[in-house]
Amino acid sequence: MERTGVSVEFDPWLKNLTTDRQVAVMSGLEHGIEFVGGPSSGLLAVRGRTLENGVYVQNMRRENGYTIDLSKSSMRQLKPNQIEQVMFHEVAHSAEYSLTSYREHEAEVDRLISFRSGRSTTLRESRLSGIIEEELCGAGYDVVYSGWYGSIYLGKTAMIDASKIPSYAAHNAEKGFQDSELAAESIRFVANNGAGKNAVADVVEVRLINGN
Ligand SMILES: [Zn+2]
Repeated sequence: MERTGVSVEFDPWLKNLTTDRQVAVMSGLEHGIEFVGGPSSGLLAVRGRTLENGVYVQNMRRENGYTIDLSKSSMRQLKPNQIEQVMFHEVAHSAEYSLTSYREHEAEVDRLISFRSGRSTTLRESRLSGIIEEELCGAGYDVVYSGWYGSIYLGKTAMIDASKIPSYAAHNAEKGFQDSELAAESIRFVANNGAGKNAVADVVEVRLINGN
C-alpha cells in the first residue's frame, strides 16, 4: 500500500490466493482509499477469516481505525473483478466513521444488536440515517426514517432512483444495515459511473465524501 501512504497489516493467508486475486484485493483497497479519502486511511489490517454463510467480507470499526475481514472461501470463488468491487465497497463503509466518535458508534452497534435480536422492537435513528434522511429530503425526495424498519423509508421516487444503483439490495439488505448499504453503494456507484447518473447516489456521495 505504498501509493496511498497507508501502512496496513496484511494476513499472510492472502498469499494463498491466486496472483490476480491478490492484485484485485490491493487495487480495490487503493481505489477505495483514494476515492473516499480521510476516514478510509484508518485501515489497520486485512485478514482472512471464516465468516458466516453469505458474508464475503466485513468492515469492523476499531477504536483507532478499522479492519477488513475476508471470507477465505468466498475469496477463492469470487472473480478478480468482483473482489475489486467488494474491497472498494468495504472501504466505502469507512466514510460513515467520521460522522460519529468511536463511543457513539459503539452505542449505535449495541442498539442495533438489540434490535436485530428482537429485544427492542424499534431502532433509534443512527447518525448516518439522520444525515441521509436530511439530505434526501433537502433534495426533494419523500423519505422518512422508520424505527420499525430500522432504516429510512424511501418514498416512490426515491425507491425508483435507489433501485437503479445496481448492487444496492434495496429490498434484501439486512435489517438495520439498509442505510449503511445505501451509503456504501452510492459511493461505489459514483466512483464507477461518475456524478450526474443517479440523483440518490449523488446526494449521498456528495455529503459523505465532500461534506465531512
Ligand atoms: Zn456493505
